[in-house]
Amino acid sequence: MRLGLFGGTFDPIHSGHLKSAEEVREVHALDKVCFVPSGVPPHRSAEPGAAAGHRLEMVRLAVADNPGLCVSDVEVVRPGASYSIDTVRHFSGRLAQGDDLYLILGLDAFLLIGSWKDWREMMALTHIIVTSRPGAGDALPYERIPVVVREAFCYDPVRSGFRNEFGKEILFTRLTDLFVSASAVRELLGKGKSIRYLVPEEVQLYVERHHLYNESPEC
Ligand code: ATP
Repeated sequence: MRLGLFGGTFDPIHSGHLKSAEEVREVHALDKVCFVPSGVPPHRSAEPGAAAGHRLEMVRLAVADNPGLCVSDVEVVRPGASYSIDTVRHFSGRLAQGDDLYLILGLDAFLLIGSWKDWREMMALTHIIVTSRPGAGDALPYERIPVVVREAFCYDPVRSGFRNEFGKEILFTRLTDLFVSASAVRELLGKGKSIRYLVPEEVQLYVERHHLYNESPEC
């Protein structure tokens, strides 16, 4: 089993997230990509736009018709600040022999990874798939990988990637550019405009039913 973990606030989940997950799954031959909506992110003091329960439910609706995608509530139900290492430990502890974990990170997040809690332990437990954000250009310059991370990995010319002493890899993946973001979706809703085609229809209906992201959001 090759399991991908895709963390984020998903506030709300949109087509960019879903297309990324599907592409990563195909490119890296993953059996499943599991969305892991955050609870209270460690670097955010206030609750994001929609309450965690709503964000989780919207992801559930969005992945329901794709057997290659799933969702986990592990961060939403965990009390207190949510750290990626706790989630990686959670999934890693449930793997069978021969299974592999792949943590999927946008380039923006990956560039900060050297400051994450217990990142060295994390990189002993999971491969990392780094994805491009729309408009980010083609290649990731080697120099942009945080120095502390670079020091822990060696370039593997056979795989054209980076591998550490635990056999875990950093894999860079260029995704199709889809210029959609959760903040743009929230902004459209705030102005009373349509978000049709930017999010799955079920998510759009959920947002409307619960009056999310408008002047007086339901939390
Ligand atoms: P916001 O606009 O509020 O910052 P977001 O759209 O970036 O939100 P997040 O939940 O913060 O959504 O993102 C989760 C992950 O999805 C991040 O790693 C981010 O880089 C990635 N991501 C978000 N939008 C896209 C997109 N359009 N294409 C590819 N990856 C994306």
